[in-house]
Amino acid sequence: MSKGPKKNSYEPLSEVQRAWLRSQEQARQKVKPSIVQSFAPVAPQSLYPIMQENTLRNTSSDWRERPEVLLKARALMVDTVRQKGVDDTAVLNAMRRLPRHVFVDDAFYLRAYDDDALPIGHGQTISQPSTVARMLMLLRAHADCHKVLEIGTGCGYQAAVLALCVEQVYSIERIAPLYELASFNLNQVRGVLPHMPNLRFSDGMLGWAEAAPFDGIILAAAGLTVPQTLLEQLRVGGVLIAPVALEAHSQQHLVRITRTSEKEWQREILETVRFVPLVKGVLHK
Ligand code: SAH
Repeated sequence: MSKGPKKNSYEPLSEVQRAWLRSQEQARQKVKPSIVQSFAPVAPQSLYPIMQENTLRNTSSDWRERPEVLLKARALMVDTVRQKGVDDTAVLNAMRRLPRHVFVDDAFYLRAYDDDALPIGHGQTISQPSTVARMLMLLRAHADCHKVLEIGTGCGYQAAVLALCVEQVYSIERIAPLYELASFNLNQVRGVLPHMPNLRFSDGMLGWAEAAPFDGIILAAAGLTVPQTLLEQLRVGGVLIAPVALEAHSQQHLVRITRTSEKEWQREILETVRFVPLVKGVLHK
C-alpha cells in the first residue's frame, strides 16, 4: 500500500536551516565525556547528581541519549515548577513527557532542565518552564480551552506543551529562521505529540483570522497594549494571557483578559514578568 503525504508535515528546510543543523551536529560530536565531566561543577544543580551518578557508573556520558536520565531530569524540573505554584496536572504531565533539550541550543544543553529562560538566537529566548506552565494554567483555568493561538513560537517548546494539553494549537512567529527552527524541533518530538501545532510565519499582531475564534490566546512577547485584532479573535468567554508593559520602560505584568460579551473584555493585572518585546512586522533572516 502506498503511503500518502505525511499529515501536517512542514515545508522543506532552507539552506540556512540545513547549515545550522550541520553545525549543531558537529558541535554535538565534539562533546566528549571528558568535556562533560569538566563542565560538571558548573552544570545546573538539578542535573549534577545525575551526571555524577553516570560518571561513577562509568556509563555513557551524553545524558541526552539516556532515557532514564532524561526522565529524572524532567521530573526534577517539574518538581520545581510545581513548587512555584503550578498545580494543573495536564501541564505538569506535558512537561514531564516533553524533551526540552531538543528545543535548546547545544551550547546550553546542560541547562536545558533548569527553570531558566535561555537564548535561542536572534535575540530571543526559550521561556522559563515555570512561566510557560503558569501561563498555560491561567489559560486553562478560566476557559473551556480546546483551540489556542500562541503569538511568538520561538523554538516551539510552548507550542509543544500546548499540543499535549489542548486539541488544536495555532502558533505564529515573525522571525523566519525561528519559524523554521520551531518546525524542525516540533518534527523531532512528533512521536510524543498527539497532534502537530499549526505554524505560520507572519506578524502575530494580525492574529489568524481563518482559524478564529479561539478559546484561548497566549502571547510570548510583551507589548505596550494587547492588539485589538487579537481581542476580536477571542470567542466570548475566551481568555487571553499576555505580558504587557503597561507604560513604556515600566515593569511588565502578566495580564488576563476575558471576553465577557461581543463588545466587552475584562482585564486583570497579575504578577510582574520579563519577556522579549512584541514587535510589528516580519523578519526574513
Ligand atoms: N514560545 C517560546 C518563547 C519565544 S520568545 C517558547 O516556547 O519558549 C518570543 C517570541 O515572540 C520570539 O521568537 C519573537 O520573535 C516572537 N515575536 C515577537 N513579536 C512577534 C509578533 N508580532 N508576531 C509573532 N511573533 C513575535
